[in-house]
Amino acid sequence: MTCSDFLKELTDYLDDSMDAQTRAELEDHLQWCHNCYVVCNTTKRTIEIYRDSRLYELPDDLRGRLQTAILAKCHSHKASVAETAPHDASEAAPKLATRPGDAPTK
Ligand SMILES: [Zn+2]
Repeated sequence: MTCSDFLKELTDYLDDSMDAQTRAELEDHLQWCHNCYVVCNTTKRTIEIYRDSRLYELPDDLRGRLQTAILAKCHSHKASVAETAPHDASEAAPKLATRPGDAPTK
């Protein structure tokens, strides 16, 4: 097995989707070829880091709090825009209130 053979089979090797014969040949190549060993190791580690990154997903409560904080920021931004442009705000408000289906839900 040559290095290019090895690299061609590497993804299957890491996916564990190959027959025992080919796997044995790849592992034999890894025994003596440092280059492919490094490539294989680096790729494997990259995949592991990618898999582990799921652990760093935001927990639901934190996600909710962030969302609230972002929305609050947007609202205060809107409010400050309305302050600097009161004309636009007073024009938009009655339109929203009289649109059918826009009944207050609270
Ligand atoms: Zn090699």
